[in-house]
Amino acid sequence: MEELKSLVTDILTDRKKLVPGVIATVSLAVGIRQLLKYSRSGVVTQCDSHYDFVIGSAGCVLANRLSASGKFKVLLIEAGDEETKYPAIPVPLLASQACTEPDAMWQDLTAPQDNCQAYKDQRSYTQHGKVLGGGSSVNWMIYARGHRDDYDSWEQKGCEGWGWDNVKEYFKKMENYFMRDRDDLGHRGPLTVSLNNTYRICDLLIEASAELGVPENPCYNSGVNNVAYFMQYRILLCKGATKSHTTIRNGERCSTAKAYLRPAMSRSNLHVITNAHVTKLCT
Ligand SMILES: Cc1cc2nc3c(=O)[nH]c(=O)nc-3n(C[C@H](O)[C@H](O)[C@H](O)COP(=O)(O)OP(=O)(O)OC[C@H]3O[C@@H](n4cnc5c(N)ncnc54)[C@H](O)[C@@H]3O)c2cc1C
Repeated sequence: MEELKSLVTDILTDRKKLVPGVIATVSLAVGIRQLLKYSRSGVVTQCDSHYDFVIGSAGCVLANRLSASGKFKVLLIEAGDEETKYPAIPVPLLASQACTEPDAMWQDLTAPQDNCQAYKDQRSYTQHGKVLGGGSSVNWMIYARGHRDDYDSWEQKGCEGWGWDNVKEYFKKMENYFMRDRDDLGHRGPLTVSLNNTYRICDLLIEASAELGVPENPCYNSGVNNVAYFMQYRILLCKGATKSHTTIRNGERCSTAKAYLRPAMSRSNLHVITNAHVTKLCT
């Protein structure tokens, strides 16, 4: 104690040591304050009073893109918890468990439906993820771009920029696709798209399809295929049969939280807050 006292007196009386001493103390205090603001996983425990953008967790992609330049301060708000709190979420074989985790799902019911006779009050359960990454953290991980005609019809009806040729470039920007030799698919994006090779039954179904005259068509994401699927097997109407392409990276679910949010969470201009249910938007 005596030594500390004499060190402080020494610093206070020696003007050369005073300035660096004060700077070091202030930096230490700021550093500790910053550390206390984040939990170990990088989620903030308290928000600032001003942000340039406040977005919902569905915007993991936006959170990454908006914070990339460092020009904007971004807050992402999620009503549920972090996806890493649920052991079933990263494991593809436990997808059915992930999407029934009560705390990771919104417990919403539909409005009464005429055709919903089997359920109480004719209202059925609707599934939505309530967790970082939203639905992408609890879904079945089947990767399907959709049919080009749907996009083109939206554009024709007035959604400028939603035509297939335009959105295709955004799909490519997003994808890291396992089919390396195809230039209509993306290969440098953060979202891993891999082949689901888990089930032997899929090989048998593809063989059986060939016997019935439906050829194998390994890629259904070129925009021209109508798709029907059974488990991890897809019958591409008129176009062929194949295995599902999935958002799985090295055997683990590649959600938008994993692909976009986690890599950006160390940026000081992006704050993520969980267990925060937005109830009102003020303008
Ligand atoms: C069980 C299941 C299986 C699926 N399987 C597939 C599949 O295999 N392939 C496929 O392409 N699609 C699948 N989907 C659909 C796909 O996951 C969704 O279409 C997609 O996630 C929707 O994304 P989004 O960004 O619009 O919203 P969401 O992913 O629903 O994200 C909305 C986010 O906002 C948060 N939020 C909502 N309200 C508030 C609030 N008031 N305050 C704070 N936060 C809030 C939610 O908690 C959630 O995290 C599946 C969905 C489910 C539920």
